[in-house]
Amino acid sequence: MEDREPEDSGTKLDEEDEWQLYASAGYASSESENEETESEQEQEEIWFDGDDFDFEGSTVNWDSPPCPAPLGIAHVIKIGVCNHCLARVSGNLIRGDASDAGASIREEAYSRDNELESKIAQDYCPLCENLFDDIENIVDRVLGELSETEFKTMQFGIHLPKDLVQEEDRIRSKYGAQGSYHLKGAIVEAIHARIGELDKKIEFVKEKPDVMVLVDGLTLRVDVDVRPIFLHGRYRKVSRGIPQTRWPSFHGMGREDIDVRCLGSGRPFVLEIKRPLRRNLPTKDLVGMVQAHASGKVEVDELSWCTRKKVNEVKQSRSEKTYTIRFRAEGIEDEKKAEEAILSLSGQIIDQETPRRVSHRRAAKTRRRKVTSIDNVSFEGGEIELTLRCEAGTYVKELVHSDEGRTKPSVQSVLDSDCEVIWLDVLEIHDD
Ligand SMILES: [Zn+2]
Repeated sequence: MEDREPEDSGTKLDEEDEWQLYASAGYASSESENEETESEQEQEEIWFDGDDFDFEGSTVNWDSPPCPAPLGIAHVIKIGVCNHCLARVSGNLIRGDASDAGASIREEAYSRDNELESKIAQDYCPLCENLFDDIENIVDRVLGELSETEFKTMQFGIHLPKDLVQEEDRIRSKYGAQGSYHLKGAIVEAIHARIGELDKKIEFVKEKPDVMVLVDGLTLRVDVDVRPIFLHGRYRKVSRGIPQTRWPSFHGMGREDIDVRCLGSGRPFVLEIKRPLRRNLPTKDLVGMVQAHASGKVEVDELSWCTRKKVNEVKQSRSEKTYTIRFRAEGIEDEKKAEEAILSLSGQIIDQETPRRVSHRRAAKTRRRKVTSIDNVSFEGGEIELTLRCEAGTYVKELVHSDEGRTKPSVQSVLDSDCEVIWLDVLEIHDD
């Protein structure tokens, strides 16, 4: 019997946090973009005093007034901004679709200046590099990736090239209305809005989402991270020959060897389900499935959904355990004396060197463990059966057969007789 000491799950959590930070970096802030509109409209007349506009490419060498001044709006139209960005930097209060709002701002500007349309330098928006044209495409990709996945909450991030962000910021600061919404936030908001049109049930959150989506604004690559879900319960292993260990997403409160049964109220565990396609299934249905498929092998009475926090709670628990063990002992003549010898270990501290059978994966060291109590010693033929309660992490088979003297003292040493373990059961895990 070996109880694994808790493994450090820190690395895993760190990776996760990093992902979270990366995704959050692209997350929209909810600042309002139009607070200044009123006062700036009052200033409009003051700005509207120049007509010596001479546009050459995107280089302007005179002090162009920023939006919402009509000259500022004319300027950003000339340098090629798209309707979406026009609305965003215009300083006008936008209601409804930003692209429609941009179109009407553009129409107004054309009606003020008949030649404006012919002066447009390019149809490539220098503020967003026409990324707003890709909103539908991005949303299609995101929902395509998630078409098989059930989820309610989404955290959405977009990664934009640094030079685009800097150039956009430069142009917006110079020609956009004060307080204009930044590119990243505006794109995220547009994507949220589009997804919201298609599926009103999706809720956008900034933490603990069901799915995290990260879009690369340059390649439009979509990364989707479906967050794991966690099920907590206790299992009884009622048949020998079933391994518990090394299932990557099974976190048990310790473990038992393949040939050891786990009885009583069972061993607490958390099952981590990675990339789940379904969430929030009724746990009683899951219990029913275990009963239907594992009858006679594994039993689970109850399951409940939990968070990752429970994994550490379960793995770090240092609960005492009670075992029943049966072993063969050579040449026992006086059972009374043998029983007394065995009971002398009750309450004792034992030293256990790392057992040979696990030494290839466990560091060599000596562990001190307490045998809390020993009861119900019985003799039958050349076999002895007993119940013992001991500290978490005690190697129980070794406590009996001594592992060639690596466990001291041991049942073998107090009996002065070779002991060979026949079977071992975990009777109870005292985690309450
Ligand atoms: Zn644009």
